[in-house]
Amino acid sequence: MELKKQINVAAGLVSDRFPSVSGIVIQMTYYHKTASPLLMVRTVNIFPTSYANFKMDCMVKGCKGGGLDLTAVIADMVKTHKKIRNGSLPCCGTSDILSIDHARIEYETVIRYKRVSKIYS
Ligand SMILES: [Zn+2]
Repeated sequence: MELKKQINVAAGLVSDRFPSVSGIVIQMTYYHKTASPLLMVRTVNIFPTSYANFKMDCMVKGCKGGGLDLTAVIADMVKTHKKIRNGSLPCCGTSDILSIDHARIEYETVIRYKRVSKIYS
């Protein structure tokens, strides 16, 4: 819990890191490698006042240091001013007992931008 708070503080706020963003909605479908691979569907709403921490925890037991990090995806979208991106992301965790493709998410990220203000003119 305390570690999570430290990571959030280090990440900074969305408004600081991505000042042009007014909101982000991430729809995620979690899959894991079992007979019934669909694990769960989750929607995350991110606001300018949210922490810019887009790393989601891996839900698979025994996964160490894993996670599904959308930070690079979102940073690239903001840089190119893209509104929607769909994709798939594998868990970055390593484990002796789990295969490398033990978990992944399919995501759709939608970013709303603030109206271009005089800052850019
Ligand atoms: Zn994992």
